[in-house]
Amino acid sequence: MIDIHTHILPGLDDGAANWDETLNMARAAVSEGITTIIATPHHANGFYNNLAVEVAQHTLRINEQLIAAGVPIAIMPGQEIRVHDDLLEAWYREELLSLAGSNYVLIEMPSSRIPREMSELIHELQIMKLKPIIAHPERNAEIAKHPERLAALVEEGALAQVTTHSLLGGFGRRIEQAAWSLCKSGLIHIVSSDAHHLERRGFRMREAYDVIRERMGEQWESYFLNNARCVVEDKPFGSIPAIEPSSEGALSRFLSYFYSR
Ligand code: FE
Repeated sequence: MIDIHTHILPGLDDGAANWDETLNMARAAVSEGITTIIATPHHANGFYNNLAVEVAQHTLRINEQLIAAGVPIAIMPGQEIRVHDDLLEAWYREELLSLAGSNYVLIEMPSSRIPREMSELIHELQIMKLKPIIAHPERNAEIAKHPERLAALVEEGALAQVTTHSLLGGFGRRIEQAAWSLCKSGLIHIVSSDAHHLERRGFRMREAYDVIRERMGEQWESYFLNNARCVVEDKPFGSIPAIEPSSEGALSRFLSYFYSR
C-alpha cells in the first residue's frame, strides 16, 4: 500500500515529534503492509511553513536513518499546502513541493468553509499542469453540509482524498457519515491516513481498505489502491467504478448520471 498524506517527518509540524516517533510510525506502517509513504508536513497553515528545500533535506536524512535501522519503507517528499492568497507565487518561488515529484499537489482548505478563491486556484493549478488533490474534504463543514459544492470543484478538475480516521469514526459520527457519503457518491479519488502519531492518529490503512471492500466492493478498493500508486508513478487516475444509484439518494443519482456522460 501507498500512503500519500502523512506527518511522519520528525519535529517539522504537529506530527512525529522526534526520531523515535518517526521510527515507531515507520515500523507500524510496514506491519500494515505500507511500502511507500509521502511525507506531507504542513505548509503555510498559520503555524508551520516547511519550505520545499527543508522538507527535501529532512526526507533524505530520514530515509538514510530508516535504511540504517533496517526498516523497509520508502519516504518521499511532499507538503500539505494550505490554500492561501500567496500559493501560486510560492510555487514560482520554489517553496512548494508536489507529491513525490509528480504533478499532483495536496492542498488543504480551512475546516470551516470553502475559500472564495478555490475555483480560480484549481483552474490556475491546472494551467500550470498541476493536479490538485483536496485533503480530507469530509472534515470541511461547508462540504459536509453541501456535498454538491465538492462535486462542482471535482467537475472543475479537483481530486479529493478521504482520511482513514474519518471513515473509521475517529473524528465522530458526523464526519464518518460525510466521509462515506462522499466516497459512495464518487467524489473521493484517494484514501490516505493523514497519520500524525501512532496512538492518537495512526495509519489504519489496511483497516479502512477492508471496510471499503465490505461496504462498497472490491472494485472500489482496487480503484483507491491504484490511484495512490498513480500519484507516486505520476500517471492519470483510473476510471471510476460504477456508482449504485440507490446508495446515497438524489446526489448519487445525479453523480452517476454525471460520470456516465
Ligand atoms: Fe494532514
